Amino acid sequence: MVPDIWSIDVSDTINPEAIPVTDAADWQPDPKHPRRRPPWIRVKAPSGDTYENVRGLMRSKALHTVCEEAQCPNLGECWGAGTATFLMMGDTCTRSCGFCDIKTGRPSPLDWAEPNRIAQSVRAMNLQHVVITSVNRDDRPDGGAPLFAMVIRRIRQLQPGCSIEVLIPDFKGSEVALKIVMDAQPEILNHNVETVKRLFKKVQPQDNWEWAMATLSNAKKMDPLVLTKSGIMLGLGETFDEVVETMQALADINVDILTLGQYLQPSNKHLPIERYYTLEEFEELRRIGLEMGFKWVESGPLVRSSYHADQQVRALSKLNFIQLHSEREAPSGD
Ligand code: SF4
Repeated sequence: MVPDIWSIDVSDTINPEAIPVTDAADWQPDPKHPRRRPPWIRVKAPSGDTYENVRGLMRSKALHTVCEEAQCPNLGECWGAGTATFLMMGDTCTRSCGFCDIKTGRPSPLDWAEPNRIAQSVRAMNLQHVVITSVNRDDRPDGGAPLFAMVIRRIRQLQPGCSIEVLIPDFKGSEVALKIVMDAQPEILNHNVETVKRLFKKVQPQDNWEWAMATLSNAKKMDPLVLTKSGIMLGLGETFDEVVETMQALADINVDILTLGQYLQPSNKHLPIERYYTLEEFEELRRIGLEMGFKWVESGPLVRSSYHADQQVRALSKLNFIQLHSEREAPSGD
Protein backbone atom coordinates (compact mmCIF):
# COMPACT_ATOMS: atom_id res chain seq x y z
CA MET A 1 0.00 0.00 0.00
CA VAL A 2 1.49 3.30 -1.10
CA PRO A 3 1.47 5.90 1.66
CA ASP A 4 -0.69 8.96 1.20
CA ILE A 5 1.74 11.48 -0.22
CA TRP A 6 -0.48 14.37 0.76
CA SER A 7 0.46 13.71 4.34
CA ILE A 8 3.66 15.53 3.42
CA ASP A 9 1.83 18.80 3.77
CA VAL A 10 1.02 18.03 7.39
CA SER A 11 3.75 19.48 9.52
CA ASP A 12 4.19 16.59 11.91
CA THR A 13 4.87 14.09 9.12
CA ILE A 14 7.63 16.24 7.65
CA ASN A 15 9.15 17.21 10.90
CA PRO A 16 7.74 17.63 14.37
CA GLU A 17 9.47 20.96 14.66
CA ALA A 18 8.09 22.26 11.41
CA ILE A 19 5.73 25.17 11.94
CA PRO A 20 3.96 26.33 8.79
CA VAL A 21 3.95 30.05 8.18
CA THR A 22 1.86 31.78 5.60
CA ASP A 23 3.59 34.86 4.27
CA ALA A 24 6.44 34.01 1.88
CA ALA A 25 7.52 37.60 1.50
CA ASP A 26 8.13 37.99 5.21
CA TRP A 27 9.79 34.66 5.82
CA GLN A 28 13.36 34.69 7.05
CA PRO A 29 15.42 31.78 8.39
CA ASP A 30 15.47 31.87 12.16
CA PRO A 31 18.85 30.74 13.51
CA LYS A 32 17.12 29.53 16.68
CA HIS A 33 14.65 27.40 14.64
CA PRO A 34 16.53 26.26 11.53
CA ARG A 35 13.96 23.53 10.88
CA ARG A 36 11.01 25.88 10.74
CA ARG A 37 9.22 25.15 7.48
CA PRO A 38 9.07 28.01 4.99
CA PRO A 39 5.84 28.79 3.15
CA TRP A 40 7.11 27.75 -0.27
CA ILE A 41 7.18 24.08 0.73
CA ARG A 42 3.71 23.44 -0.60
CA VAL A 43 2.11 20.51 -2.31
CA LYS A 44 -0.40 20.76 -5.12
CA ALA A 45 -3.25 18.33 -4.54
CA PRO A 46 -3.74 15.89 -7.42
CA SER A 47 -6.85 16.21 -9.50
CA GLY A 48 -8.16 16.33 -13.02
CA ASP A 49 -8.65 13.97 -15.92
CA THR A 50 -4.97 13.80 -16.87
CA TYR A 51 -3.98 12.83 -13.35
CA GLU A 52 -6.70 10.17 -13.27
CA ASN A 53 -5.58 8.82 -16.65
CA VAL A 54 -1.95 8.50 -15.51
CA ARG A 55 -3.04 6.84 -12.29
CA GLY A 56 -5.33 4.41 -14.13
CA LEU A 57 -2.58 3.51 -16.59
CA MET A 58 -0.06 2.75 -13.84
CA ARG A 59 -2.57 0.51 -12.10
CA SER A 60 -3.72 -1.31 -15.23
CA LYS A 61 -0.13 -2.00 -16.32
CA ALA A 62 0.95 -2.98 -12.79
CA LEU A 63 3.72 -0.38 -12.88
CA HIS A 64 5.44 1.50 -10.09
CA THR A 65 6.50 5.13 -10.14
CA VAL A 66 9.04 6.87 -7.98
CA CYS A 67 6.48 9.68 -7.79
CA GLU A 68 4.31 7.54 -5.52
CA GLU A 69 6.86 5.27 -3.86
CA ALA A 70 9.09 8.16 -2.78
CA GLN A 71 6.17 10.43 -1.85
CA CYS A 72 7.29 13.10 -4.27
CA PRO A 73 5.72 16.47 -3.47
CA ASN A 74 5.34 17.25 -7.17
CA LEU A 75 3.03 14.36 -8.01
CA GLY A 76 -0.03 16.56 -8.44
CA GLU A 77 1.80 18.87 -10.83
CA CYS A 78 3.63 16.21 -12.85
CA TRP A 79 0.80 13.71 -13.21
CA GLY A 80 -1.59 16.56 -13.89
CA ALA A 81 0.70 17.48 -16.79
CA GLY A 82 0.71 13.87 -18.02
CA THR A 83 4.27 12.97 -16.96
CA ALA A 84 5.62 10.46 -14.44
CA THR A 85 8.87 8.71 -13.58
CA PHE A 86 8.73 4.95 -13.96
CA LEU A 87 10.30 2.82 -11.24
CA MET A 88 11.52 -0.53 -12.55
CA MET A 89 12.46 -3.78 -10.87
CA GLY A 90 9.82 -3.73 -8.15
CA ASP A 91 9.00 -1.55 -5.19
CA THR A 92 11.58 -3.00 -2.79
CA CYS A 93 15.17 -1.74 -2.66
CA THR A 94 18.17 -3.71 -1.44
CA ARG A 95 19.64 -0.57 0.16
CA SER A 96 18.28 1.59 2.97
CA CYS A 97 19.25 5.23 2.48
CA GLY A 98 18.38 7.59 5.31
CA PHE A 99 16.37 9.97 3.15
CA CYS A 100 14.40 7.55 1.02
CA ASP A 101 10.89 6.28 1.59
CA ILE A 102 11.05 3.35 -0.79
CA LYS A 103 10.75 0.15 1.19
CA THR A 104 13.81 -1.98 1.88
CA GLY A 105 14.10 -5.73 1.91
CA ARG A 106 14.39 -8.79 -0.26
CA PRO A 107 13.02 -7.90 -3.69
CA SER A 108 10.98 -10.15 -5.93
CA PRO A 109 12.55 -11.66 -9.07
CA LEU A 110 12.92 -9.36 -12.05
CA ASP A 111 9.90 -9.08 -14.32
CA TRP A 112 11.30 -9.31 -17.85
CA ALA A 113 7.99 -8.17 -19.33
CA GLU A 114 8.13 -4.90 -17.41
CA PRO A 115 10.13 -2.96 -20.06
CA ASN A 116 7.45 -3.74 -22.63
CA ARG A 117 4.64 -2.53 -20.34
CA ILE A 118 6.55 0.67 -19.63
CA ALA A 119 7.09 1.26 -23.35
CA GLN A 120 3.38 0.68 -24.00
CA SER A 121 2.56 3.25 -21.32
CA VAL A 122 5.01 5.76 -22.79
CA ARG A 123 3.19 5.38 -26.10
CA ALA A 124 -0.25 5.61 -24.46
CA MET A 125 0.81 8.80 -22.69
CA ASN A 126 2.38 10.06 -25.92
CA LEU A 127 5.47 11.16 -23.98
CA GLN A 128 8.15 13.07 -25.83
CA HIS A 129 10.57 12.61 -22.95
CA VAL A 130 10.56 9.86 -20.36
CA VAL A 131 12.48 9.29 -17.14
CA ILE A 132 13.02 5.73 -15.94
CA THR A 133 14.65 4.73 -12.71
CA SER A 134 14.88 1.62 -10.56
CA VAL A 135 15.47 0.41 -7.08
CA ASN A 136 18.93 -0.95 -6.26
CA ARG A 137 19.22 -4.64 -7.07
CA ASP A 138 22.38 -5.65 -5.27
CA ASP A 139 21.00 -9.21 -5.26
CA ARG A 140 22.08 -9.40 -8.91
CA PRO A 141 25.67 -9.09 -10.18
CA ASP A 142 24.47 -6.93 -13.09
CA GLY A 143 22.31 -4.76 -10.82
CA GLY A 144 19.45 -5.15 -13.29
CA ALA A 145 21.29 -3.18 -16.01
CA PRO A 146 19.85 -5.37 -18.82
CA LEU A 147 16.35 -4.17 -17.96
CA PHE A 148 17.44 -0.57 -18.53
CA ALA A 149 18.81 -1.54 -21.94
CA MET A 150 15.61 -3.43 -22.77
CA VAL A 151 13.32 -0.57 -21.83
CA ILE A 152 15.36 1.94 -23.85
CA ARG A 153 15.24 -0.25 -26.95
CA ARG A 154 11.54 -1.04 -26.58
CA ILE A 155 10.59 2.63 -26.18
CA ARG A 156 12.57 3.43 -29.33
CA GLN A 157 10.38 0.90 -31.15
CA LEU A 158 7.01 1.90 -29.72
CA GLN A 159 7.46 5.66 -29.33
CA PRO A 160 10.13 6.77 -31.81
CA GLY A 161 11.43 10.27 -31.19
CA CYS A 162 10.81 10.13 -27.44
CA SER A 163 14.00 11.11 -25.64
CA ILE A 164 15.00 8.80 -22.80
CA GLU A 165 16.57 9.63 -19.47
CA VAL A 166 17.66 6.82 -17.20
CA LEU A 167 18.31 7.48 -13.54
CA ILE A 168 20.45 4.50 -12.66
CA PRO A 169 21.90 2.97 -9.49
CA ASP A 170 25.68 2.95 -9.13
CA PHE A 171 25.87 -0.80 -9.93
CA LYS A 172 28.61 -0.81 -7.24
CA GLY A 173 30.84 0.97 -9.75
CA SER A 174 30.67 -1.92 -12.25
CA GLU A 175 31.78 -0.77 -15.69
CA VAL A 176 30.38 -3.97 -17.21
CA ALA A 177 26.87 -3.18 -15.93
CA LEU A 178 27.16 0.49 -16.88
CA LYS A 179 28.24 -0.41 -20.42
CA ILE A 180 25.10 -2.51 -20.89
CA VAL A 181 23.05 0.65 -20.30
CA MET A 182 25.33 2.97 -22.30
CA ASP A 183 25.28 0.66 -25.32
CA ALA A 184 21.54 1.28 -25.56
CA GLN A 185 22.28 5.03 -25.94
CA PRO A 186 19.88 6.88 -23.68
CA GLU A 187 19.90 10.63 -24.30
CA ILE A 188 20.58 11.33 -20.61
CA LEU A 189 22.37 9.19 -18.03
CA ASN A 190 21.51 10.34 -14.54
CA HIS A 191 22.99 9.26 -11.25
CA ASN A 192 22.44 11.32 -8.14
CA VAL A 193 25.27 11.85 -5.67
CA GLU A 194 22.50 13.07 -3.31
CA THR A 195 24.82 14.68 -0.75
CA VAL A 196 28.32 15.97 -0.06
CA LYS A 197 31.28 13.68 0.46
CA ARG A 198 31.46 14.21 4.24
CA LEU A 199 27.86 13.07 4.76
CA PHE A 200 27.83 10.35 2.14
CA LYS A 201 28.03 7.30 4.42
CA LYS A 202 25.59 8.78 6.93
CA VAL A 203 23.00 9.47 4.25
CA GLN A 204 23.61 6.38 2.08
CA PRO A 205 25.31 3.73 4.26
CA GLN A 206 25.55 1.08 1.54
CA ASP A 207 26.69 3.50 -1.16
CA ASN A 208 30.10 4.85 -1.82
CA TRP A 209 31.22 8.26 -3.10
CA GLU A 210 33.76 6.68 -5.45
CA TRP A 211 31.11 4.47 -7.08
CA ALA A 212 28.90 7.49 -7.70
CA MET A 213 31.68 9.53 -9.26
CA ALA A 214 32.91 6.55 -11.30
CA THR A 215 29.40 5.97 -12.67
CA LEU A 216 29.18 9.53 -13.97
CA SER A 217 32.74 9.84 -15.27
CA ASN A 218 32.75 6.40 -16.92
CA ALA A 219 29.43 7.12 -18.61
CA LYS A 220 30.90 10.26 -20.18
CA LYS A 221 34.01 8.38 -21.29
CA MET A 222 31.98 5.52 -22.78
CA ASP A 223 29.77 7.83 -24.82
CA PRO A 224 30.46 11.58 -24.82
CA LEU A 225 27.24 12.20 -26.80
CA VAL A 226 25.11 11.08 -23.86
CA LEU A 227 24.47 13.92 -21.42
CA THR A 228 25.23 13.13 -17.79
CA LYS A 229 23.15 14.46 -14.95
CA SER A 230 23.33 14.43 -11.17
CA GLY A 231 21.56 15.92 -8.20
CA ILE A 232 22.14 17.03 -4.63
CA MET A 233 19.61 17.28 -1.80
CA LEU A 234 20.09 20.29 0.41
CA GLY A 235 19.40 20.57 4.12
CA LEU A 236 20.94 17.34 5.44
CA GLY A 237 23.59 19.15 7.47
CA GLU A 238 26.07 20.12 4.77
CA THR A 239 27.51 23.61 4.58
CA PHE A 240 26.94 25.93 1.64
CA ASP A 241 30.65 25.66 0.80
CA GLU A 242 30.44 21.87 0.77
CA VAL A 243 27.59 22.10 -1.72
CA VAL A 244 29.72 24.29 -3.96
CA GLU A 245 32.66 21.85 -3.62
CA THR A 246 30.40 18.96 -4.60
CA MET A 247 29.13 20.90 -7.59
CA GLN A 248 32.74 21.54 -8.63
CA ALA A 249 33.57 17.84 -8.28
CA LEU A 250 30.67 17.07 -10.64
CA ALA A 251 31.70 19.83 -13.06
CA ASP A 252 35.26 18.44 -13.06
CA ILE A 253 33.99 15.13 -14.45
CA ASN A 254 31.93 16.96 -17.08
CA VAL A 255 28.49 16.36 -15.69
CA ASP A 256 26.14 18.34 -17.93
CA ILE A 257 22.94 18.80 -15.92
CA LEU A 258 22.58 19.48 -12.21
CA THR A 259 19.51 19.41 -9.98
CA LEU A 260 19.41 20.98 -6.53
CA GLY A 261 16.39 20.61 -4.24
CA GLN A 262 15.40 20.86 -0.61
CA TYR A 263 15.48 17.58 1.34
CA LEU A 264 12.09 16.83 2.90
CA GLN A 265 11.93 14.26 5.66
CA PRO A 266 9.35 11.62 4.64
CA SER A 267 8.72 10.53 8.25
CA ASN A 268 10.34 10.93 11.63
CA LYS A 269 12.17 7.63 11.06
CA HIS A 270 14.19 9.32 8.32
CA LEU A 271 17.11 11.73 8.60
CA PRO A 272 16.02 15.08 9.98
CA ILE A 273 15.98 18.28 7.98
CA GLU A 274 18.83 20.31 9.40
CA ARG A 275 17.75 23.50 7.70
CA TYR A 276 15.80 25.00 4.82
CA TYR A 277 17.60 26.84 2.06
CA THR A 278 16.16 30.17 1.04
CA LEU A 279 14.97 30.99 -2.47
CA GLU A 280 17.93 33.36 -2.78
CA GLU A 281 20.36 30.55 -1.93
CA PHE A 282 18.82 28.31 -4.57
CA GLU A 283 19.19 31.08 -7.10
CA GLU A 284 22.78 31.76 -6.01
CA LEU A 285 23.66 28.07 -6.43
CA ARG A 286 22.06 28.05 -9.87
CA ARG A 287 24.21 31.02 -10.88
CA ILE A 288 27.36 29.39 -9.48
CA GLY A 289 26.56 26.16 -11.29
CA LEU A 290 26.13 27.87 -14.64
CA GLU A 291 29.44 29.68 -14.11
CA MET A 292 31.09 26.33 -13.44
CA GLY A 293 29.99 25.19 -16.87
CA PHE A 294 26.93 23.02 -16.30
CA LYS A 295 24.73 23.14 -19.37
CA TRP A 296 21.62 23.29 -17.20
CA VAL A 297 20.99 23.83 -13.49
CA GLU A 298 17.53 23.21 -12.04
CA SER A 299 17.56 24.68 -8.56
CA GLY A 300 14.62 25.24 -6.22
CA PRO A 301 12.96 23.94 -3.06
CA LEU A 302 10.78 21.31 -4.73
CA VAL A 303 13.19 20.37 -7.49
CA ARG A 304 13.62 16.63 -7.76
CA SER A 305 15.78 14.68 -10.16
CA SER A 306 13.05 14.33 -12.76
CA TYR A 307 11.25 17.59 -12.09
CA HIS A 308 10.69 19.48 -15.36
CA ALA A 309 12.93 16.93 -17.11
CA ASP A 310 10.95 17.25 -20.34
CA GLN A 311 11.29 21.04 -20.29
CA GLN A 312 15.05 20.73 -19.70
CA VAL A 313 15.39 18.56 -22.77
CA ARG A 314 13.37 20.96 -24.91
CA ALA A 315 15.54 23.88 -23.75
CA LEU A 316 18.79 21.93 -24.23
CA SER A 317 17.63 20.91 -27.67
CA LYS A 318 17.02 24.54 -28.68
CA LEU A 319 20.55 25.35 -27.47
CA ASN A 320 21.93 22.42 -29.49
CA PHE A 321 23.30 20.95 -26.26
CA ILE A 322 21.67 17.58 -26.69
CA GLN A 323 21.88 15.07 -29.46
CA LEU A 324 18.73 13.05 -29.80
CA HIS A 325 19.09 9.40 -30.65
CA SER A 326 17.05 9.89 -33.82
CA GLU A 327 19.58 12.52 -34.96
CA ARG A 328 22.48 10.11 -34.39
CA GLU A 329 20.93 7.63 -36.72
CA ALA A 330 19.83 10.14 -39.35
CA PRO A 331 21.55 9.68 -42.70
CA SER A 332 24.40 12.13 -43.18
CA GLY A 333 22.87 13.46 -46.40
CA ASP A 334 25.03 11.72 -48.95
S1 SF4 B 1 9.30 15.39 -9.87
FE1 SF4 B 1 9.74 13.37 -10.77
S2 SF4 B 1 9.29 11.90 -9.14
FE2 SF4 B 1 8.33 13.85 -8.57
S3 SF4 B 1 6.21 13.66 -9.37
FE3 SF4 B 1 7.44 14.70 -10.92
S4 SF4 B 1 8.09 13.05 -12.30
FE4 SF4 B 1 7.43 12.08 -10.38
